[in-house]
Amino acid sequence: DALPLDEVDGNVIHTVKRSVFSESQPSPLKEPLTLAAVSQDVLRNILDLNESVIQNEEFVRCVSGGKLFPGSVPLAHRYGGHQFGYWAGQLGDGRAHLLGEYTNRKGERWEVQLKGSGKTPYSRSGDGRAVIRSSVREFLCSEALSLVVSEEPVWRDPFYNGSVIKERGAVVLRLAKSWFRIGSLEILTRTGELDVLRTLLDFVIKEHFKSIGTNDPDKYVVFFSRVLNETAHLIAHWMSVGFAHGVCNTDNFSLLSITFDYGPFGFMESYDPNFVPNTSDDEGRYSIGAQANVGLFNLQKLLEALKPLLTSDQLSQSQQILREYPQIYHQRFHELFKAKLGFLGNEEKDSYVIAFLLKLMEDTGADFTMTFRQLSEVTLSRLQKGSFAPSLWALSDLSSHKHFRDWVQLYLQRLSRIMSDSDEERQHRMQGVNPRYVLRNWMAESAIRKAEKNDYSEVTLLQKTLMEPFMEQEEAERAGYASKPPSWAQQLRVSCSS
Ligand code: AMP
Ligand code: MG
Ligand code: MG
Repeated sequence: DALPLDEVDGNVIHTVKRSVFSESQPSPLKEPLTLAAVSQDVLRNILDLNESVIQNEEFVRCVSGGKLFPGSVPLAHRYGGHQFGYWAGQLGDGRAHLLGEYTNRKGERWEVQLKGSGKTPYSRSGDGRAVIRSSVREFLCSEALSLVVSEEPVWRDPFYNGSVIKERGAVVLRLAKSWFRIGSLEILTRTGELDVLRTLLDFVIKEHFKSIGTNDPDKYVVFFSRVLNETAHLIAHWMSVGFAHGVCNTDNFSLLSITFDYGPFGFMESYDPNFVPNTSDDEGRYSIGAQANVGLFNLQKLLEALKPLLTSDQLSQSQQILREYPQIYHQRFHELFKAKLGFLGNEEKDSYVIAFLLKLMEDTGADFTMTFRQLSEVTLSRLQKGSFAPSLWALSDLSSHKHFRDWVQLYLQRLSRIMSDSDEERQHRMQGVNPRYVLRNWMAESAIRKAEKNDYSEVTLLQKTLMEPFMEQEEAERAGYASKPPSWAQQLRVSCSS
């Protein structure tokens, strides 16, 4: 039930009350449509489909909003959120349509959503569309089935410099176990729709937090504690691969603590806690090093949303849980980085060895991803010698530091105390957690430039490469994905324009 409320610049703004979803039909894109890329993994292993379905001429329409699956009632979700620290009111799916859910052969339940599929009651001043460049990035990083490119003109100012250019519309079909966000609950509390809040929360708990008893009087406290744990783990995991989300607003923070809503995200190249992937984020609110604290802020907002459903005892319990967040985050961060270095067991100095390495990386500008990867590939005797072949370029950069040898001595001593550990065993452990490939901006940009000229080969290459980020792959090597980033990579900028 969408009620027109106000009219701004010819766009009707709808304030929707007492509902979590609005029915909303996707708007088909201008043809001809091109099925630019498909994930074979999602096709087969999530959707139980056979490769031949993509030959069907209806397929491209089905995955871009031009034709609905039988029985589908497309929905746009109503949510709110704190954007850059401030309550922004009602936001909602302004360019996404939930097509339905699918329970696959393995019994996994997935929610299928289109992004870029046209206006909804939540589009505000937006056009409901997404351009090729942002869709390629979303397709490559999220759990997505397909990328469809159209002839639909979409007008954007990509660098926020006042020059609007004509781009083309694209649609991604993406999947998640749930698309609910912290903002999904916040909007209901803010408007005082507490019965709807309770209904939605009970649904989320029943569907996605199955181990929480529906009759447990403390179920909302347990829910809060689970989300807090998982969010701390997620952000520690982001840090362990150098990932900066870019727009950590509460409307982009999943209740299941999965990474979604890929906008101006980035993987940092040289280690820098102040790395800010989004050029529109002037103050660096969402710098990579700020993410742990932002997680805490977002969890505070989640607790505010839950507050009306808690007794005063439960509220103080939850506040106590909130105080445990830094400890949970640091513990996880510590475990992940220990694994990255190949450590087993615990030693008092482990934190120091980790921090020491990060400091060397920060000082020398050594590549974050490849320093860890090359530590996983080198033999310890080679590391001790300290002379590195050109293929070990990140270690070579790192070794220019005057304290490099001191760190190596600590590191080797630490490893030597692991009983009967061989180079092979250590390398195997480390290579399983230190990716050789991450979606660096220059890689995405290279694929985007080709895609804009209707060549989708690199989108497909990247999609395949990133399916196995820990495994060395010939084609990826030839494309330079594990090489020193090209010099033009440093000039790249990504904004919120999408
Ligand atoms: P984001 O910063 O991408 O997470 O988006 C914030 C809000 O703006 C969400 O409610 C989006 O659905 C909405 N939005 C972003 N781009 C568009 C667009 N082109 N048309 C309509 N809504 C949009
Ligand atoms: Mg979003
Ligand atoms: Mg977005």
